[in-house]
Amino acid sequence: MPGLFIDGIWTPGSGGKDDVLNPFDGSVVEQVDLADAADVGNAVRAARRAFDAGDWANTPARERGALLGQVADLLVRDKDAIAHLETLDTGKTLTESGLDVDDVVSVFRYYAGLADSDPGRLVDTGQASVVSRIVYEPVGVCALITPWNYPLLQISWKVAPALAAGNTVVIKPSEVTPLTTVRLVELLVEAGVPDGVVNLVLGGGPVGGALVEHPDVDLVSFTGGVATGKRILRAAADTVKRVTVELGGKNPNIVFADSDFETVVDYALTAVFLHSGQVCSAGARLLVEAPMHDALVAEVAARAERIRIGNGLDPSSETGPLVSAAHRAKVEAYVEAGLAEGARLVAGGCRPDDPSLADGYFYRPTVFDGCRADMRIVREETFGPLLTVETFDTEAEALALANDTEYGLAGAVWTTDAARAERVARGLRAGTVWINDYHPYVPQAEWGGVKQSGNGRELGPSGLAEYREAKHIWQNTAPAPLRWFKG
Ligand code: NAD
Repeated sequence: MPGLFIDGIWTPGSGGKDDVLNPFDGSVVEQVDLADAADVGNAVRAARRAFDAGDWANTPARERGALLGQVADLLVRDKDAIAHLETLDTGKTLTESGLDVDDVVSVFRYYAGLADSDPGRLVDTGQASVVSRIVYEPVGVCALITPWNYPLLQISWKVAPALAAGNTVVIKPSEVTPLTTVRLVELLVEAGVPDGVVNLVLGGGPVGGALVEHPDVDLVSFTGGVATGKRILRAAADTVKRVTVELGGKNPNIVFADSDFETVVDYALTAVFLHSGQVCSAGARLLVEAPMHDALVAEVAARAERIRIGNGLDPSSETGPLVSAAHRAKVEAYVEAGLAEGARLVAGGCRPDDPSLADGYFYRPTVFDGCRADMRIVREETFGPLLTVETFDTEAEALALANDTEYGLAGAVWTTDAARAERVARGLRAGTVWINDYHPYVPQAEWGGVKQSGNGRELGPSGLAEYREAKHIWQNTAPAPLRWFKG
C-alpha cells in the first residue's frame, strides 16, 4: 500500500487511510496512507536538513541534470505500466495517459539539459577594481502541490526544475489521484536521489495547508483552483514565502469565418472535450463570427453527440468519465444553471444511457448555443465537457468578449488573415495563445496565467528561474581607505 516517503524511507501515515477510486466504475484501485500534521512536519524537517547540509545544492549541476535524465529513461522503461495506472486513477484514455508520460519524459530531459546551462553573469559596474557577479542559488525547501487532472504531468513541471536548481522538495499530490506521483517518487529513488531531497506526503487540503504554513518551507508551487490559490497566497504571507500559483482558465476559442470549416469543427471539439473538459486550458468558450455561426454550431453539436465515451482502458473510447461523483455533480449544476439562464442546449446535457457506464462518473459532451457573457456557464470555470457558444460581428467585439473574464490562461484564434491573427494574439490577455491550433505545448516554452489564472511561469527557462535566487556578489579587488568619515 502506498505510504509517505520521508527522509529516504517509505513510511505509513498517521492520518488514516483513503480509497483511491477508479472513475470508470467507482471500484477501489488502491488504498493509500494519509499524512497528519506531524508527518508533514517530519517531511519538511527532512527536506530542511537535506537542504541545509548543502550536499544536494553543491552537487555539480551537471550531475543533478544527469539524475533527471536517468528518471526520464526509467519513465520510458515503465511507460505502459505508468500510463495504465494514470488511466485507472484519472479515467482518461490510455492514449491520453501515454501522451502524458511522453510529455513527462520530455520535461525531465529538458531540465536535465538546462540544469547547468546558466551559472550566472558578470555585471559591468564601470569600476575596473570591482568584480561584480550574479550567481544563482536554490531557494531552499519547496512544497509542490498538484491537482487531479494531470497528476504526473503537473508534478513533473515542478519537481524537475526544482531538483535541477538544487532545491529539496516535499510533494503533495491531489488526494483524488495520487498514484502516479507515488510511482514517480519510486523512480526518483531508483535514479539515486539522496535521502531527504525528495519527500512525499499524501492527503487533502489540511495536509497542503500544513505545508503552506510551515515556517521551514521557503517556496510553494501550487497548481489548482482559484479559490485554493487565493487561500494559499494568504496563508503563505505570514512567513513571506515565495509562491507561484497556476490556476484555472475560461479560455476563448475565437473563430473567424474565413477559417477552414472542417478544421475548426474538429479543433473546437478537441479544444473543449479532451479529457472530458477537465483541462485548465480547455477551449470552453467558442466565439464564432456571425456568417459561420449556424453551420459551425450544427456540426459541432452533431459531432459532440457522436463522441464515444467509455472506459479509458478500452481503445475504442474517445474520452473517459469525470474524475469523481462530486465533480460530476458540479458540472450537472452548471448545466442546470445554463438552462435556467436561457442558454439553448444543442447537444448532451445528461448522463449517457448506456447501462455499462452506469457505475462510472460519465457525462455526455454538452453544447450550449445562444450564450451571453453574463451567464455563469460563460463566466465560471465548469471544468467539464461543457461548451458555450457566443457570436460576434467584428474583430474588436471578438477581443472584447474574449477578454471579458477574470481568467487569462490560454486562448486561440482561427483565421487565414495573418495580420488579424497577430493583432488578436497580441490583444488577448492570456499566458498562451494559439493561432490556428489548440492545446499543443512544449517544455521549452513558458506556461502560466495572467489575471486570476495565476502568477509565475512553469516550463521554459522561466520555469527554472522560479526555483532559483539571484545573489549579487561584489568583490573589491583593490580595497583602500574610503575616508568618508574624516575624524
Ligand atoms: P484544488 O484547488 O481543489 O486542489 C489542488 C491541490 O491543492 C490538491 O492537491 C489539494 O489537496 C490541495 N489543497 C486544497 N486545499 C488546500 C489548502 N488550503 N492549502 C494547500 N493545498 C490545498 O484543485 P483541483 O480540483 O485538484 O484541480 C482543478 C483545478 O486545477 C482547476 O481549476 C484547473 O483549472 C486547475 N489547473 C490549472 C493548471 C494550470 O496550469 N494553470 C493545470 C491543471 C489544473
